[in-house]
Amino acid sequence: MRILLAEDDPSIAEGICGSLRHGGHAVDHVSSGNLADAALRDHSYDLLVLDLGLPALDGSEVLRRLRSRGAGLPVLVVTARDGLPERIRVLDLGADDYLVKPFALSEFEARVRALLRRASSNGMPELQVGRLRLDLPGHRAWVDSTPLELTAREFGLLEALALRAERVTSRAQLIEALCDWDQDLTDNGLDIAIHRLRRKLQGSGTGVRTIRGLGYLLEEAGESGTDPA
Ligand code: CA
Repeated sequence: MRILLAEDDPSIAEGICGSLRHGGHAVDHVSSGNLADAALRDHSYDLLVLDLGLPALDGSEVLRRLRSRGAGLPVLVVTARDGLPERIRVLDLGADDYLVKPFALSEFEARVRALLRRASSNGMPELQVGRLRLDLPGHRAWVDSTPLELTAREFGLLEALALRAERVTSRAQLIEALCDWDQDLTDNGLDIAIHRLRRKLQGSGTGVRTIRGLGYLLEEAGESGTDPA
């Protein structure tokens, strides 16, 4: 999943980025409200983690603009501002959840898992494609009852494809889902990740088919098998 973090406190940002990346997510970090606003216009994210007290543009205004554009991505507000009126105001502006600093990273991670679970699969924490089963918040996958050993990148790739099963996913969409600004994924890198994922899916009855000129399709392997390239 690709997450935008808008937080101007460097040590809090570092902790949150580390925790999210450790969980296998791609994280873009910005430290001002206007940069957050620009990033939300230019990129597509699965979750926004938003500090309210941001320089240049207040977090509340970032949120108000986001919702006025009709964007439905989940928003987790993290802020030092406490008090009932403030919480109600932020939830009414369109936040999905609210965490008051200081908070335990374990609680932050649980709330992120809950928001992503709701957003990615309409409340279903698991996805099934043929004999392949994915536990999205847990980052685990099985073929029947046998666990698949996947790296964080391979799981991200499989997840991006599985969320669009039966539909073609373009290379740009895959790169968008897998990459944050700090770690470039080249065309070659994507090819390698797809190659490795295909090898690990061998014998699973599910494969990644190349749709020339368009992208990739995760599907139950038919009579024709899957593209070995
Ligand atoms: Ca702040």
